[in-house]
Amino acid sequence: MTDNGEDYRDSEEIYANDAILEIANVSQCLKTESLTSLLEYDKKKIENEDDCRWYHGKISREAAESLLKEGLIHLGNVDGLFLVRDSTSSKDDFVLSVTHNARVYQFQLKEAYDGHYRLDEGPIFAGLVKLIQFYQRPNKTGLVTTLTQHCQGTAPPPKARQQGPTNILHRAVIEGVEKIVKDILNHSLCPPIDAKNEWGTTALHDACKYGFQDVVRLLIEHKADVEMKDRAGLSPLHRSCAANRHEMIPILVEEGGANVQSSTPKTAWVPMHDAAMRGHVECIKALLKQNAPLMPRAEDEQTPLDLAIKYNRGECIELLSKKDQRPIYTKQENWLHPDLDRQQACQLLDSYHKTDGLFLVRKSRRNVNFHVITFCFKKNYYNFEVKVKDYKNKLVYYIDNGPLFPSLERLIDHYMRQADGLTTRLTASIRPGHEELVYSHANERTTAQVSVPKPNLPPRDEPEVPEEAYAEAIMSPEEPPQLPPSRNLPSKMMLSETRQQSCEEFKKIIDFKDIQLGQDLGEGEYGAVKKGKYTESGKVFKKKFDVAVKTFHQTEPGAGVNEGILREAILMQDLDHPSIVKLFGICENPFMLVEEFVPYGALCDYLEKHKGKIKVDPTLFLWASQIADGMHYLEQRKIVHRDLAARNILVESKTQVKISDFGLSRAYEEGQYYKASKGGRWPIKWYAPECVSFGKFTHHTDVWSYGVTLWEMFSFGEQPYGDKKGIEVIEYVEAGGRLQCPENCPVKVYEWMKKCWEKDPKRRPSFTDLKNHFEDDPLYGSAQSLGLSQKKKN
Ligand code: ADP
Ligand code: MG
Repeated sequence: MTDNGEDYRDSEEIYANDAILEIANVSQCLKTESLTSLLEYDKKKIENEDDCRWYHGKISREAAESLLKEGLIHLGNVDGLFLVRDSTSSKDDFVLSVTHNARVYQFQLKEAYDGHYRLDEGPIFAGLVKLIQFYQRPNKTGLVTTLTQHCQGTAPPPKARQQGPTNILHRAVIEGVEKIVKDILNHSLCPPIDAKNEWGTTALHDACKYGFQDVVRLLIEHKADVEMKDRAGLSPLHRSCAANRHEMIPILVEEGGANVQSSTPKTAWVPMHDAAMRGHVECIKALLKQNAPLMPRAEDEQTPLDLAIKYNRGECIELLSKKDQRPIYTKQENWLHPDLDRQQACQLLDSYHKTDGLFLVRKSRRNVNFHVITFCFKKNYYNFEVKVKDYKNKLVYYIDNGPLFPSLERLIDHYMRQADGLTTRLTASIRPGHEELVYSHANERTTAQVSVPKPNLPPRDEPEVPEEAYAEAIMSPEEPPQLPPSRNLPSKMMLSETRQQSCEEFKKIIDFKDIQLGQDLGEGEYGAVKKGKYTESGKVFKKKFDVAVKTFHQTEPGAGVNEGILREAILMQDLDHPSIVKLFGICENPFMLVEEFVPYGALCDYLEKHKGKIKVDPTLFLWASQIADGMHYLEQRKIVHRDLAARNILVESKTQVKISDFGLSRAYEEGQYYKASKGGRWPIKWYAPECVSFGKFTHHTDVWSYGVTLWEMFSFGEQPYGDKKGIEVIEYVEAGGRLQCPENCPVKVYEWMKKCWEKDPKRRPSFTDLKNHFEDDPLYGSAQSLGLSQKKKN
């Protein structure tokens, strides 16, 4: 959903346009003017033209606030006075600071992908300029106010913009006179070297495109960014390949350190795709010489060979279908440990100092044909599965959507040269049998063996933020990184991670043919929930009963079992409590959870529908106590729910509710709380502040969510915090704001809600407290008696 309509081909046409050459007249201008006066004139002209000087770089939140407040004093209380600054938490993001009702609001502008940004869940824009222009139009939703005036700063950095005014450096580069370019680069008034011109390309892109080798060298010497993407998402290497300038490739890679695997944001084409599509065989040869993999894959899985075939590029087809003759500088015996399982692999890595990129390869327990690379990074373990499949009648090895390789050794060789999507390049391996480490010297194109005696167990360094690594896996790891057992983690995580994940561990596997699927019950975050009939074949009788079947959107065709969900399912299978939805079993193919059918559906819907008919006393009190009871049961089993909310409580009857969906939130990507879920519900509204700040989920954060769930109940299904967006709620709660007491909610209950929302997690009540409170308080006498009859039944 970007508003960047242009694609690749359009910019090609722009390039073909001779208009661009008309401005290549710097040498002409220099006949009558000095370089200094030309540069001065250029600078002024650009300052006037560029109306996006609202960027303030790396200033703190406080500094932004005081700049804006100062602005308010000068301008009178204007709404929508704004500035943009670098995010302090993420180097690729920015923050929009804007005034409204004399207050300053801060919005994260997240990079959705390469140079594309979005505010909250708003549309994605190609570059910050377009984003700001969008929110400058009146009545744009998604922001507290329309952006009106800005605090004067500079233009945003080139990476964050799609195009800009064409400057004198652009013009000189297109003209291709090395001496002039050199003089400009050495001049104190030289424009930013990575600035983009009105066609959206940098000086380096153009120098490559026109084949000016010396100018390319000069630009690299002056630290031009070799990875900068132009408006069409192409790097200088892509541009060189598209224009058949193979001589540029060694210069960019060897002198500039350019990445041969740099890929375009939308299609994930690497430079070799461009070369193959156009039949530029010399470029392919040059790329192969620079260790580019032979079979990289695009977003749609196409390899350069596929493109060469599609566009009938004879020479390229021939070259790309030949066996890869390049030498491989590593051997299986340096890293393959066929007998280790995951835990042992981690222990072995652990016994060496956990240097970044230290790795070994083991066999996958899930599939005999697969391997797993286990490596260390930032004191965590990562596990990436190496899969095998058939490609044009040959066996190929690959990780996730990475390149295809004809052998495991070539795959490892590749990742020893470059990270290419892994969190780190593989730097050293543990050689089985010999107590030594083997270091790779990828840059010298050799893998020297350096024997290092096995060290004594090093002292354990305690990590500062144990969960940080979860956010860092770029490709989907085989399973979340393993953490050493010494860490102080929510115990549920340790419990589940020390188990080996496989369907075999699941006691009850249900055959798909025993399930008859019926109507949809609802569309969940992860897939549809359907009603079903399950025929359980016992020894003597067949038993048929209603079930709810949770299906899951598949991330990729044939992706099979989602490990995360499976992990949760394994935890769920042993639970047995009247307030917890029972899991009957799982169906492996297609992967589904088969659960107890709870007839009245989600509590939030039920409350809304039956508002006025449900009594606070005893019904709501009873339900509140049942939920606390169920949560107490989970707590005893060291399970953190992470998504406790009225939408995940199901109504069995007026006298029984059940908790569902625990842990599922974790199975999916971390940091999703900025996203509104179905029905505009922002999960963040149920999150304690430490979930937001540190991604930490504990029984204490579940208690906070329990408080919000109570609030939903006693307000009969209202939206917590009304129409506030996720980000606004974070600010509100951070500033000490809390949900107000719902109408007709007993003060006593509201007191307990507030206790659940104590800033300090330790000051919140435990589920034991809550449960005891609900059971002991005389106010709940009638609820208790109702509940008692329930309990006796069980
Ligand atoms: P969400 O991701 O919104 O929490 P769920 O996947 O939990 O959604 O389920 C979607 C809807 O399906 C629920 O709102 C509920 O109405 C229905 N549902 C889920 N589980 C069951 C069940 N065990 N019995 C009956 N209905 C269910
Ligand atoms: Mg749910």
